[in-house]
Amino acid sequence: MRVIANFKIFIKEIVNILFPNLCFSCLAKTENNVLCSDCYNKIQFVTAPVCILCQNPSNTRICGKCLKKRIYYDRLICVMRYTGPIKDVIHNFKYTHHNFLADFLSEFIFAYIEAVPYLNICEYTLTAVPIHPAKLKERGYNQSYLLAKKIANNFKIPVKNDIIFKIKDNMSQTELKKTERADNVINVFDIDKNIPVNGKIMIIDDIFTTGSTVNECARLLKEHGAKEVVVLTLAKTVL
Ligand SMILES: [Zn+2]
Ligand SMILES: [Zn+2]
Repeated sequence: MRVIANFKIFIKEIVNILFPNLCFSCLAKTENNVLCSDCYNKIQFVTAPVCILCQNPSNTRICGKCLKKRIYYDRLICVMRYTGPIKDVIHNFKYTHHNFLADFLSEFIFAYIEAVPYLNICEYTLTAVPIHPAKLKERGYNQSYLLAKKIANNFKIPVKNDIIFKIKDNMSQTELKKTERADNVINVFDIDKNIPVNGKIMIIDDIFTTGSTVNECARLLKEHGAKEVVVLTLAKTVL
């Protein structure tokens, strides 16, 4: 099944290169060159009531599952659910050198930030979840940093991409079972102790799955003096 799915993605990638004005998901004609109106309307945003630490539906501020975990960040914000047509767009953004999609995707983040009443974005310094230098060389860009730069430019706030760095090229979290993910991020990141981080930090990432990666980054930031750490991701995997 995985082979067939990969083949479909491959065909779509070829079609996207040859016919750039087709929908990234269903290949219908599109005016914005990314998603047709039908696919656009299928985007599912994360809406309240959700747990502030995992963004799963919850009637309490922090859900029962998160209460049992050691979570270092203070709040998680996810804009949309990683499902349906937007999944195809994010996949292309991340894996197939379609870095121009940062413009399209960051617009959703801007709108979300402006709509969230409890978040004063101007109080934060942004940083992105780093990727290993070997992966950066291969991909040519860190997709989370592209989003962080767009947000920083839009809201005129600082972005520091050199606070946390990746020292080990670990296995992709997507290839691991839930139970293996927390172990996979241990000793993978390090922090530059010469850069002061004493205020409010917002970590930007593309997709939130179990949260092991951002939690590890938040742990380092808090240990290094960050007062508050908020995690903002474009999408969140559906349970
Ligand atoms: Zn479509
Ligand atoms: Zn939760």
